Amino acid sequence: MQFEHLLAAALGFAGGVALAIALARRSRGQEQATTEVPTAAAETHAVAPMSTLAGDDRGWHGDLGTLADHIDLGIVRLGSGLQVVRANRAAVRLLQTDAERVIGKSLMELFVDHRVNEAALAAIEDGSAAYEIDLRNDAERRVLLRFRRSHEGGLWLLLDDVTELRRLQRIRTEFIDNLSHELRTPLTTIRLLTETLTQDVARPGVDVPERVRERILKIDVETGHLAQMVSELLDLSRIEGGAEELHFDNVRMGEVINAVVERLRTFADRQLVGLETALPDEGLPPVWGDEERLGQVLVNLLHNAVKFSPAASVVTISGDVSGGLVTVAVRDQGVGIADADLDRIFERFYKVDKARQRGQGGTGLGLAIARHIIEGHGGRIWAESEEGRGSVFKFTVPVAGARR
Ligand code: ADP
Repeated sequence: MQFEHLLAAALGFAGGVALAIALARRSRGQEQATTEVPTAAAETHAVAPMSTLAGDDRGWHGDLGTLADHIDLGIVRLGSGLQVVRANRAAVRLLQTDAERVIGKSLMELFVDHRVNEAALAAIEDGSAAYEIDLRNDAERRVLLRFRRSHEGGLWLLLDDVTELRRLQRIRTEFIDNLSHELRTPLTTIRLLTETLTQDVARPGVDVPERVRERILKIDVETGHLAQMVSELLDLSRIEGGAEELHFDNVRMGEVINAVVERLRTFADRQLVGLETALPDEGLPPVWGDEERLGQVLVNLLHNAVKFSPAASVVTISGDVSGGLVTVAVRDQGVGIADADLDRIFERFYKVDKARQRGQGGTGLGLAIARHIIEGHGGRIWAESEEGRGSVFKFTVPVAGARR
């Protein structure tokens, strides 16, 4: 008992989640191996909190039941008719009911939201699904519901109280938003002044030592980076905070690709990198998306591809369609990205090798923004690469009309 109390106290948020999943799996295995009351039979028994579930078996199973009651995470076993078969104490607490009354209830009776039911049905189909909901109890709680299909039929439902997490995320977003706003005005002034200064010292006949001229140029470049970082931070916090809505319409991806290529042609020429497009002859079907935001993703991918490419190499943008999705790929012959970094580059501020990129600018925010935008479209973005050989960045967007 002592141990369980200690363990329960030690279980943090993440630990709780991991343990509960392990617990659910373990319990599932146990059910198979020993005394599992077949789901259909279990459904007819009014069985209350997990700790009383073990019945005669007070071994592993009983321990797990007791442990489940000490976890902060709500665990509910749903029968094949999606009614509650068991629930641990945390679930009963979150649902603000008493243990007896929760048993046998349907999801609709518990949550009064048909989307919870839809998520459960999706989990039966796909194996897992999640949905976040406000539970209007004494105090309003934000709860993440995660459904997992059980081998024995029915589902496991995990209830995470994410109220505090969401509140902290909101504070962080507001803080970044306010900070970026406050920084923007003085930065714009500094930028204007350095730009003027740069032009002043470049004028013929102005006698300024080369050293000073170089420093002014450096200040100009770094202020540019700072301004870009602030504007990207603002962008990211708005997109993450949901303030920046996507404006959906039919978008001709081929035209967006061609426009972005033209926009970046001067930059590519300066870097001596060739730009090519490879689009199907019959063109691409319209996608369902926000044209400006999709253009922003492409600018970022293309800009990176050119930035990390050697002179005389080629960057290719291709597009094709299959399975109701348009896939756009930006392929370069540049430095490439190590396997270990491939997933991490989509995190905010992540840069692969800071030393290698010195002087190349970049904030490490572009791909984080791109991921938010693409996921907001119901698509996926990822990178494949071979170090030293080049990379390909791909994203998918649903074809208009094919969207669920
Ligand atoms: P940045 O502003 O630094 O380019 P991004 O979020 O766009 O920020 O990219 C994050 C990091 O991913 C880059 O700093 C770089 O290390 C790596 N990266 C992105 N695109 C490429 C590419 N085409 N080739 C090699 N590395 C890349």
